[in-house]
Amino acid sequence: MKKVCAIFLLIVLLMPAFFLSGCEDKPALNSYQISVNFDSQNKTAQCVCTVDYVNNTSNAFDYLLFHLYPNAFSQQGEGLVCSPANETKTYPNGISYGGIQIDGVQVGGKQAQFTLQGEADMLLKVSLENQLFPDERVQVEMQFALVLPNANHRFGYGDDTVNFANFYPIACVYRDGEGFATDGYIANGDPFFSDVANYVVSVDYPQSYILACSGTDKTTALDGDRNITTFSNEKVRDVSFVLSQNFNMISAKSRGCEIEYYFFDDGNAQNSLETAVKAMEFYSQSFGDYPYSSLAVVQTNFVHGGMEYPRLVMISNSVASEDYAYVIAHEIAHQWWYGVVGNDEYNHAWLDESLTEFSTALFFENYPEYNISYNQIISGAEANYKFFLQIYKKIQGDVDTSMLRPLDEFATEPEYVNNIYTRGILMFDALKNQLGSKKLTSTLKAYFKQYAFKNVSSDEFIEFFSAKAGAKLQKFFDSWLNGDVVFVYA
Ligand SMILES: [Zn+2]
Repeated sequence: MKKVCAIFLLIVLLMPAFFLSGCEDKPALNSYQISVNFDSQNKTAQCVCTVDYVNNTSNAFDYLLFHLYPNAFSQQGEGLVCSPANETKTYPNGISYGGIQIDGVQVGGKQAQFTLQGEADMLLKVSLENQLFPDERVQVEMQFALVLPNANHRFGYGDDTVNFANFYPIACVYRDGEGFATDGYIANGDPFFSDVANYVVSVDYPQSYILACSGTDKTTALDGDRNITTFSNEKVRDVSFVLSQNFNMISAKSRGCEIEYYFFDDGNAQNSLETAVKAMEFYSQSFGDYPYSSLAVVQTNFVHGGMEYPRLVMISNSVASEDYAYVIAHEIAHQWWYGVVGNDEYNHAWLDESLTEFSTALFFENYPEYNISYNQIISGAEANYKFFLQIYKKIQGDVDTSMLRPLDEFATEPEYVNNIYTRGILMFDALKNQLGSKKLTSTLKAYFKQYAFKNVSSDEFIEFFSAKAGAKLQKFFDSWLNGDVVFVYA
C-alpha cells in the first residue's frame, strides 16, 4: 500500500507463461470457488465459497482456520481499520459498520461445526470430523452474507466504487513449528499473509454496474437486468474486484500483458495507462517476467494512496494529480514484491514495502520524462527521515527506528510509514551503493525466480542476498532492521 495522508509533515509523499501449472516439486494448491450475488440497494452480498483444501504441511489437522477480515469493519472491530487521523477520510458520511456472517459450513458435503474466534470474530475455526493428514484434501463449503460499510476502504463503498477486497474466508497460512498465522487487522500497513491458490470467481450484479477485475477466461452472461461475470486466476495469493456505475475503461498491451485501466475521474487517463504500461515493462525487464496475462489498474474511493492485490491494483481518486504516476508505479511494483514473491506482511512488512518503494525509485530513474529523479527521491527520503526523527523525539521523548517488528508494535502511523517506507528506501539505496547497481539487479532477478509463488521470511531474504551477492550482508541488514544505523540531524 502507498499511504497518502496528511499526518504532520512527516509523510514521504513528496519524495518526490511460465510455471502456471504442473511443476514437479511444487506443492498442490488450494482451489477456491467463490460466487457473489451483489444487492446494490442495500450494499450487501450473498456468497458461497468452496475451498478444495490441501494439507501441504507435515502435521495432521483437527480443524482449519480462515481469516474473516470483513469483521474488522464491524462495530466490534472499531478502530482496527483506520487511525483516528484518517477517520473522516474513511467515513465521510459518518462511521458505518459492515462485516461477514457465516450462515453454514459443510466439510466433505456434511454439516460441520464452526466457531468464530479472535479479536472482532476475525477467525473462523472449522472442525474436521476426520483428521486431515499431510497431502490429503478436503472440501469446505461456506455460505456467508456480507454487509459492506460506507467506507473508502479495501472493503466498503464510497461515492463511486464498491470495493470487494479481503472479502471472503481465506485460509490462514500454516507454518511447521509455528502453527497457523492468525494475526488480525490493523490500521498500520497491509496486515495480510496468504499462500498462492487457484480461484474461480463468479459475480452476479446489476447491469448498471461495470466490474473491474482481472482474470483468465473472463466471461459475462446476461440474466434479465443482471450480469454474471466469471473469471479465474491461477497461482495468486488473493482475489479482489471493484464495481462502479461510473467506470470508463481503456487498455493497452505491455510485454504480452493486457493492462486495463478503470477510472471515473482522471483527466489524464491515457497518461495513467501509459505509466502502467511502462511500469509493467520496466519491472518485467528488471526483476523477471510478469507471470499473468492481465492486470487491472482501478481507480477507487480509498483512504490511502493505493492498494495492491494480485492482478489488481487500487489507485485512490483522492491522490493529487502530481502524485498519481508515483502511486501507479508503486502499486504495480507490488505485483512482484507481495504478489508473486509473498511475505508475512504483518510481521515482516519491510520485505515487500521497502523493496517496493525502492523499486519505484528505480522506475523513475529509468524514465526521466517524469522529472522525478532517483537522487531527488533518495535525498527527499533522507531529509524526511531526519525531520521525522527530530520531531518525533521532541514530541515523544524517544524514537524507535527498528523496522523488523509486527505492525501492532508501531505506535503510530508516522512511525510505521517513516521506518518502513522512508528508512526502507534508504536501506536499499545503501545496499545499491555497497553492491553496485548491476549486482543488485541480478540478485533481485535471482531472488524473484527463487521465491516466486512462495512466502519468504526476513532470514531467508538476508541469507539469499548474502549468498548471491557474494558479500556478507547479515550485519548490514541487522543494523538497518534493528535500528542501529544512525542518522545525524541537527
Ligand atoms: Zn506499498
